[in-house]
Amino acid sequence: MKPVYALVDCNNFYVSCERLFKPQLKKRPVIVLSNNDGCVVSRSQEAKALGVSMAAPLFKVRDLVERHQIEVFSSNYALYADISARVMHTLEELSPEMEIYSIDEAFLNLAGFNSKDGLHQHGQHICHTLYQHVGVPVCVGIAPTKTLAKLANYGAKHYPATGGVVDLMDQRRQKKLLHITPVGEIWGVGRRSTLQLQNMGINTALQLVQMPLQTARRRFSIVMERTIRELNGEPCIELDNQPAAKQQILCSRSFGQKITDYDQLRETVCEFAARAAEKLRQGQQMTQMVNVSIRTSPFDAHEPCYANSATAKLSTYSNDSREIVALATQLLKSIWKEDYRYAKAGVMLGDLCLEDRLQPGLFDDPQQRAHSRQLMQAIDQINHSGRGKVWLGGQRPQQDWFMNRAHLSPAYTTRWEDLPQVF
Ligand SMILES: [Mg+2]
Repeated sequence: MKPVYALVDCNNFYVSCERLFKPQLKKRPVIVLSNNDGCVVSRSQEAKALGVSMAAPLFKVRDLVERHQIEVFSSNYALYADISARVMHTLEELSPEMEIYSIDEAFLNLAGFNSKDGLHQHGQHICHTLYQHVGVPVCVGIAPTKTLAKLANYGAKHYPATGGVVDLMDQRRQKKLLHITPVGEIWGVGRRSTLQLQNMGINTALQLVQMPLQTARRRFSIVMERTIRELNGEPCIELDNQPAAKQQILCSRSFGQKITDYDQLRETVCEFAARAAEKLRQGQQMTQMVNVSIRTSPFDAHEPCYANSATAKLSTYSNDSREIVALATQLLKSIWKEDYRYAKAGVMLGDLCLEDRLQPGLFDDPQQRAHSRQLMQAIDQINHSGRGKVWLGGQRPQQDWFMNRAHLSPAYTTRWEDLPQVF
């Protein structure tokens, strides 16, 4: 059966989430900022048109913001994660198989799709359904390979006349779009390769497709060869519907206000460790390696600088918050130095394995392990119930780590108190 892929990508996702609960912002310029209100990470079409560039620091676009009364939001990840889950849930029902590619993107498998109305109509159906069920606008790209589906989606986004759906099953249409697409826009072609390609006189995606495969492999890599094959309609990258087990788990943040007090930093590190342990359990994984890092701000030239990290192993594989938090605390103690203003801390868990693949170690106590599992399950259940939270003594929960979030919208869909009210 000939493969058919659709890439569904939400438009200006974070902005779209914010607009869901403030429809009066529909035609207005809106931007969303990264953690600590640092840089622009999502822009509405109107904000793009005013010249706000992606990843621009807020202070650089302040003038534009004031002059055009651009609406500014802090990142509200609780809201975005919840809307993302709704998008993915809806997509699941529109296709037999899918791969969640990022918070706002998914590949669908439409092979064997049987409809007298055709693929293009099905693409439109996907757009309409998502808009109706979730309220988020999306673009759909359809093609015989994933790389071409990405390209189709790029076309759908860039050319409003497409109505948000591009079907690239037809070779002639593939060529046409390849011809007008800069090579750097192709999925899998990074910034360095783009420069290298441009130096070789290859500027458009069509020119890339015409490169001999041998040259691609010799001068670039097997990845580039695969990209060209895919652009030629030869599927090389399969749908990955089983997310790969994580290799490491990191929980780290910059603080909006610097920390000088040991107890405060310890509570923060414990909170990170507990969060990381929770993520570990969500993926049914265990860890044996814990790393803690702390540092002052590298941007304050007039302040004394200090950065350090420490790593240690647990006696056996574990995903018990108590053990991970205890080791993280020890590690922090070993690198803590008085008289510095700390700007960032992180906890990293490495050497992960899947719970059900674990070989019991020499010092394993099966009974203790069973108790640990029950306790952690109980904690996770309570914390996800939405009715309250429990945490270990050393943690500093729900402080948002002193983040600057001056423009935060309510957690409309995940916190009862923030439920939107209709008068
Ligand atoms: Mg997107």
